[in-house]
Amino acid sequence: MTSYKYLFGPLASRRLGMSLGVDLVPHKICNFNCVYCECGETTDLTTERREYIPIFRVLDELKDFFKTRPEVDYITFSGAGEPLLNKGIGGVVNFIKQNYPGYKTALLTNSAFLVKPEVRAEIMALDLIVPSLDAITKSVYQKINRCDLSQTPDPISIIESLVSFRQEFKGQMWLEIFIVPGVNDSLQELDLLSKAAERIKPDKVQINGLDRPGTEDWVRPMLPEEAKRVISFFKRVPVELVTKPKGRGVESGENIDRISKITALISRRPSTLEDISHTLGLSENETSDIMDALIENGSVTFTTEERGVFFRLP
Ligand code: SF4
Repeated sequence: MTSYKYLFGPLASRRLGMSLGVDLVPHKICNFNCVYCECGETTDLTTERREYIPIFRVLDELKDFFKTRPEVDYITFSGAGEPLLNKGIGGVVNFIKQNYPGYKTALLTNSAFLVKPEVRAEIMALDLIVPSLDAITKSVYQKINRCDLSQTPDPISIIESLVSFRQEFKGQMWLEIFIVPGVNDSLQELDLLSKAAERIKPDKVQINGLDRPGTEDWVRPMLPEEAKRVISFFKRVPVELVTKPKGRGVESGENIDRISKITALISRRPSTLEDISHTLGLSENETSDIMDALIENGSVTFTTEERGVFFRLP
């Protein structure tokens, strides 16, 4: 298996099937410091756009990756920070569309940079954008996303930019709302969020909740009845709950270095046995044997959370 620095996967994603991740920003540079972030605390909170990772290096890795015409559902800009912080993102999107037009591209973004028309223009060639909007009132925005309000647009400006982008953009838009129980699930906030979604008119709203450990340990997953209540607010837009991965587990196979894959997976986000076995296309018994060996030799550690055992790097 070729080992890449800026590409990860393909991994079974909860929303995108088999997704090759493209990481354009080093850990953990972001303009937000979300309480639920599974990549951990933001250590460099910044709104400065620059080429944090040289784009030519990313293109080299993509050229190598595409040599084998791999089967993936999406090439996804995501990772350990906000992808739009890298001002070279447009070059990468256009490179993929021009050279590998059969592949779909997606961007997961916290939406703040979309207030800039020039940033929206850079990413017009994407097939899918998944912008986040977790709060409408400033106090809730600050509690969840913890950005520097003097440098970052407020939720109202972000909503306006999403309305504009929806009209300009030809691809799919799935508006993501991450629910932190007790913070953004009040009647008032959900009412405002649903009204914002009606204005934005995304192809669908995705209600997301904690699946892996977040940055703050007080953040908990939604209970099924809480998820049902949240969904009930979104009557005039298509809405769905983000569920477990439906990937095809293409990572199984004799030539695949399973341990490297596991290490790559859990270095980015703590994962359960189920996550790992699904991503690698292995049975839970096979995965369990590998994890036992990795724990025994000290390469992997684990924590027991309310929702089960999560493996991570020491
Ligand atoms: S969830 Fe996304 S936007 Fe929020 S801190 Fe993590 S990387 Fe940044």
